Amino acid sequence: MKERPAKPKKQPVTIPGVKSASAAQTIFFPRSIKELLTLYNKNPGSIIFAGGTGIMMNRRSERERGGAGGRPVISLKRVQDLTKVVRRERFLEIGAAVPLSRLASIGSRIVPKTLYNAIINYGYYGTRNLATLGGLICSPWDYSEIITILYALDAQLEIRSIAHTGWILISGLKKADGESILSENEILTRVRIPYGSWNRSYSRVFGMDGSSTYPGAIFSGFARIEKESIEDIRLSFGGIGNRVIRERNIEMTLQGKKIPLTEKDLSLIESQITDLLDGFYKPKDIKETGVLATPASINPVESYRASALKRIMLWFLNNLEYPDYLGQIGGLQNRQSKLYF
Ligand SMILES: Cc1cc2nc3c(=O)[nH]c(=O)nc-3n(C[C@H](O)[C@H](O)[C@H](O)COP(=O)(O)OP(=O)(O)OC[C@H]3O[C@@H](n4cnc5c(N)ncnc54)[C@H](O)[C@@H]3O)c2cc1C
Repeated sequence: MKERPAKPKKQPVTIPGVKSASAAQTIFFPRSIKELLTLYNKNPGSIIFAGGTGIMMNRRSERERGGAGGRPVISLKRVQDLTKVVRRERFLEIGAAVPLSRLASIGSRIVPKTLYNAIINYGYYGTRNLATLGGLICSPWDYSEIITILYALDAQLEIRSIAHTGWILISGLKKADGESILSENEILTRVRIPYGSWNRSYSRVFGMDGSSTYPGAIFSGFARIEKESIEDIRLSFGGIGNRVIRERNIEMTLQGKKIPLTEKDLSLIESQITDLLDGFYKPKDIKETGVLATPASINPVESYRASALKRIMLWFLNNLEYPDYLGQIGGLQNRQSKLYF
């Protein structure tokens, strides 16, 4: 019998000076951004491995979709340029592979305080030690307080491929269905967090069980108050169908208003936020939106989230006059206590 010719072995693409290992799964450890981008360009569809904590959680669904099995892995661990943190005049610039624990160790004088508090409350120390800011931003889930705060602060992301470099707002990273816009050869390399001159800030995570890992809902608010009027304000809402929402119309309605806000102002804002949240929790036409949801009135979880978000936002707006009070409550105490409305 004629022997079948052996199948030629697929050779992983490597570049000189870059180590790769393991026959089962090729792992690359580039040392510079240039090497990283070259490798990714030559091996599209590779798994970008930052801290691995999100990938670990996602393994089951990967297997269900046909597996990450043979895809090469590109580790960011040794790319020095991705682990830098630079303080500039107007913003903090953070390499995508900086672990959250490192940001925590930099302290709240440099990392905006509300963000710092969210970082030290993220998962356990071991997770913070591995999980990177870039990995958190690129993960398919947007359930974190850190992300909700970055939306409010208009964080900017540097996206690079071998052919181009560009900056986008964090709100532009994911499409309406939550899918990332990054193409197969693009990497998040740096994150810029503008400092802003906020003199009021507040962020709160509240879940059905008081846990921050899969919170029921997240609210983050920042405001600049000058001469008893709202010069600028940012409001973002997380935990909503795996998305973070910022509604500029609501922020614009509030800009220039005197504090304390009048009953009329507050009820206008309340109706705007009700419309906004209803759009997510009670889609009129499920076929049109593609979102599977039931009316808030008969879904206790969604109803709880919507009601909690509304009330906490109104509480924030009602307390803009009292920066010390907001600071105290926005601190570590009581942040994850159970709140039921
Ligand atoms: C115990 C535990 C607790 C957790 N708690 C939370 C929580 O409270 N909130 C929460 O939201 N998540 C949580 N997670 C999920 C996970 O930690 C986050 O998604 C996380 O921050 C991912 O960061 P990472 O560096 O580990 O990313 P990785 O797991 O390495 O990567 C995550 C995804 O992003 C891609 N990626 C990473 N870096 C880049 C880059 N620079 N450019 C392009 N793509 C990139 C990867 O390819 C992958 O698809 C938790 C996970 C564990 C294990």
